[in-house]
Amino acid sequence: MNELMDLYQEVILDHNRRPRNTGAVVDANRRARGDNPLCGDQLSLTLKVSGGRVENIAFEGHGCAISTASASLMTDAVKGKTVAEAEALFRRVHDLLRGTEPPEVPGGAATGDAPDAEPDLGKLQALAGVRDYPMRVKCATLAWHTLHAALEQKDQPVSTET
Ligand code: ZN
Repeated sequence: MNELMDLYQEVILDHNRRPRNTGAVVDANRRARGDNPLCGDQLSLTLKVSGGRVENIAFEGHGCAISTASASLMTDAVKGKTVAEAEALFRRVHDLLRGTEPPEVPGGAATGDAPDAEPDLGKLQALAGVRDYPMRVKCATLAWHTLHAALEQKDQPVSTET
């Protein structure tokens, strides 16, 4: 278990040092801003959603190590996913950080009879480490709530759904 926690910490440190998908998507059609005044984390998210799929996603902002790593992990996880899959990941991470879902062992055998439709959390399991620090949970969920807000936007009709 300690090895697992070390691994998770490595993932957080790595994504904080070298955040993925930073900047702004030039042809974005979804965007949202996130703000966590408790910590001072600020996040600006841009997405290109086409055909019901997140084609591109990038983030800008500044914040603590947890918020930066979480945004980096989030963009990595949802890029290329369908909007439905991205929303499902949002819900899973939300449950994970709220402590309503036990952490899984990466690559371990699935237990129980959960439907296979559940998205695999993979590296996102690393975020579970903040559960013991209630002040930091909002740092970790900021990027996900911002993603959710961006995906909810209906200001641009998606032609493939008509
Ligand atoms: Zn923070």
